[in-house]
Amino acid sequence: MTHILHRQINAVLPVAAGGQGIELFDREGKAYIDASGGAAVSCLGHGHPDVIAALKAQADRLAYAHTSFLTNEPAEQLADRLVAGAPQGISHVYFVSGGSEANEAALKMARQYFVEKGEPQRRNIIARRQSYHGNTLGTLATGGNAWRRAPFGPLLIDTHHIDPCYAYRHQAPGESEEAYGLRAAQALEDKILELGPETVMAFVAEPVVGATAGAVPAAAGYFRRIREICDRHGVLLLLDEVMCGMGRTGTMHACEQDGVAPDLMTVAKGLGGGYQPIGAVLLGRHIFDAFAGGSGLFQHGHTYICHPMACAAALSVQEVIERDGLLANVRAMGAHLRGRLDACFGNHAHVGDIRGRGLFLGLELVEDRSSKEPFDPARKVHARVKKEAMARGLMVYPAGGTIDGARGDHVLLAPPFILDAAG
Ligand code: PLP
Repeated sequence: MTHILHRQINAVLPVAAGGQGIELFDREGKAYIDASGGAAVSCLGHGHPDVIAALKAQADRLAYAHTSFLTNEPAEQLADRLVAGAPQGISHVYFVSGGSEANEAALKMARQYFVEKGEPQRRNIIARRQSYHGNTLGTLATGGNAWRRAPFGPLLIDTHHIDPCYAYRHQAPGESEEAYGLRAAQALEDKILELGPETVMAFVAEPVVGATAGAVPAAAGYFRRIREICDRHGVLLLLDEVMCGMGRTGTMHACEQDGVAPDLMTVAKGLGGGYQPIGAVLLGRHIFDAFAGGSGLFQHGHTYICHPMACAAALSVQEVIERDGLLANVRAMGAHLRGRLDACFGNHAHVGDIRGRGLFLGLELVEDRSSKEPFDPARKVHARVKKEAMARGLMVYPAGGTIDGARGDHVLLAPPFILDAAG
């Protein structure tokens, strides 16, 4: 009997007792290969000695100092490192405790930016169906996952959703990838014009859609056109790289591969690799300048922003990734894993699509491969996959059933960057 309110109230979960490398162990000694890094979190795997040493050293020095009084060294160093490696135009970082908090803060930054600039009528957020941006009220309203939103609908702010860029389902027969990408992006401009450009504050999107779609990258050219549309209408581009960022796709930021730089970007999971809870908003110089030259503050804050232990862990994780050349390994192992998936499941009757970038790969499961007919949600195929995989000592991250009114099941793989071909 547990007194924890678990996600699945009636599930009896194994108790995690330890972890080493790409494996986790339960209390009974059973090993699980962590092929999804939890939820694309554990980028260095478990028990990494350098991160543990950094955490111990930081705990000895300083565990906590409130940011209304003091800044701290690991937070300053981590911010320097993130800005140095950030897309063009990013000048500052705001540290929080996770992905939802990062997106919530980024939305408030977008809003305050326009208030500071004397455009308070800009309040509309446009996002995409089939997206997940978090579980707090603002981010839940922004995300397009109808099932997650359903019970809380009356509490959510009005947001506007367009179709995702989802070639497997939406690219028309005979249409080139580029033509499809441009057509999908046009949905944003249509929505901006419908709402009135002067009312639109931000467009929010995951460069590679994770939890709600199973590692779906955008078609070539989509995000470049999205950037143009945002610029044309003075709309901020907020890229949510909470799941797909920090090296997961083989470059530090997924948007590098799309050739765009955002006004605001959020990162979390792989930032601290699970060693501490941490997330961050990376903001453009223009946003910082609007605050600095205006009210002189960002009207937001939590008790644990810039937490020294969290920042020290993330700093260590990022130093190890650079020192050990792990982005190159993500690319190499991503290609290797993709090859193995293609070889094993490329002709599987119930695998409709294999996709993704780097070590962020997804399989879409279908009833019928040729018609792309999804499984009946009542069969809970994704849940069965998870259960069967766990029974065999493998952790993968499936989702599906009914997603945003569309049926579909998929499995996400996001193994640690330390993977080797034998692993
Ligand atoms: N954004 C994306 C793209 C995510 O995948 C997630 C979590 O899965 C979040 C935001 C929310 O992050 P957190 O669970 O750390 O609040």
